[in-house]
Amino acid sequence: MSDGGIHPAKTFVDAAHDTLSNTQMRRNLRHVTSAIRDKRTRAVSEVDNWEDLREVASQTKQHVLENLETYLLQLEESVTRAGGQVHWATDAREAREIVAKIALKHGAKEVIKIKSITTDEIELNGFLQGRGVAAIETDLAELIVQLSHDRPSHILVPAIHKNRSEVRDLFNATLGAKLESDEPAQIAGAARTYLREKFFSVKMAVSGANFAIAETGTVCIVESEGNGRMCLTLPDVLVSIMGIEKVLPRWEDLAVFLEMLPRSSTAERMNPYNSMWTGVTENDGPKEFHLVLLDNGRTQVLRDEVGSQALKCIRCSACLNVCPVYERAGGHAYGSVYPGPIGAILTPQLLEMKDDKANTLPYASSLCGACYDACPVKINIPEVLIYLRGKVTKKKGTTLESLALKSMLWVMQEPHRFEGALKLGRLGQGPFTQNGKFTVLPGLLSGWTHSRDLPELPKQSFREWWKEQGQ
Ligand code: SF4
Repeated sequence: MSDGGIHPAKTFVDAAHDTLSNTQMRRNLRHVTSAIRDKRTRAVSEVDNWEDLREVASQTKQHVLENLETYLLQLEESVTRAGGQVHWATDAREAREIVAKIALKHGAKEVIKIKSITTDEIELNGFLQGRGVAAIETDLAELIVQLSHDRPSHILVPAIHKNRSEVRDLFNATLGAKLESDEPAQIAGAARTYLREKFFSVKMAVSGANFAIAETGTVCIVESEGNGRMCLTLPDVLVSIMGIEKVLPRWEDLAVFLEMLPRSSTAERMNPYNSMWTGVTENDGPKEFHLVLLDNGRTQVLRDEVGSQALKCIRCSACLNVCPVYERAGGHAYGSVYPGPIGAILTPQLLEMKDDKANTLPYASSLCGACYDACPVKINIPEVLIYLRGKVTKKKGTTLESLALKSMLWVMQEPHRFEGALKLGRLGQGPFTQNGKFTVLPGLLSGWTHSRDLPELPKQSFREWWKEQGQ
């Protein structure tokens, strides 16, 4: 399945155990993320006022979140005035039903799709299939993921975990291609032959949306392959599904985001294809346009003063590419269509912190802060991670771990208690140490030594040495 939803099947630790043994994926990830990281640094350093742009982008998004209802109503009015139809979907089920109803009304047996994480979030493809409508992904990487019944592992490069030879074999098996070489041009050629026929024959398209402008009703999609432009212009019916947080107030707000998004994601100065459309235009493009505004937990997130900043995200994936945990564990370990640092704060919140497996995601971080530095809209991801960890801990109530931490706090609050504990520790550490290191700590503490060494307590602490110096 190419659409995986947002409900992790496993805890992050269990899922990461599986993915860490996939050496090919780790090699591919390391190679691609480090290449994009370097390119992004160069692309960003070309812009003298990058930090000013970040500030403007962040403030614009914050303003939208604070006035979301106003801008969404304005957007609805503008889209309707321009001949489009707006639908409100409270959750994934409603959004899927809306799309299926439109497809069935038009007798569509197939729809062509533009890469969209929002449609993956609502698990649209599988649902449409159940209603007899085949959803065909037209982005090359998404097509690869779909044909191999896999899940995307990166926001920007969903098939990052696949090798060229695998793709060649996949296309030979599923598209009837007769590729002998795994040259990128030949692989892309096979996809093009298959997709061209779909672009010219399928009458309905489904897309997501990068931005929508409240004052004009214009919807915007940026992409690199041109498949999006084909989907947005050739079919008779176009349905765009958009998370409610994607709205921007004014046309000129786009200027900032169209500067920042490509540099932060593909490290390009500009996306090769920037498509914008406003309602319907006679004899030009789709005859019918539907905009589905999706909530699916977002208004709940919006109510949270700290966590709501996750809704500023423009899905550039810069935070993924700088994250040491993502680089090693890979996107599948997050069990959601939103991987990496943004997934670690968005997925559990969209599920209202009620999903125990999703609630392990805020722990998928070393809190190094690289994601915050890279984020073009200045989402303080480490702050939200710590905040969400606090929520998870509170929800668990009193546990052995919380009792142990409370005891440690009590010990550390007074110097004499701390010194006493050190002395006791020194006396009792013998059975657990070898060659100057703790090898296996008992009980709850064993989690620490499971994958790390811990130096044994020194014969003399700094405080004792300091006292000895007569200070
Ligand atoms: S959180 Fe920031 S860096 Fe990460 S995908 Fe969203 S906008 Fe990009």
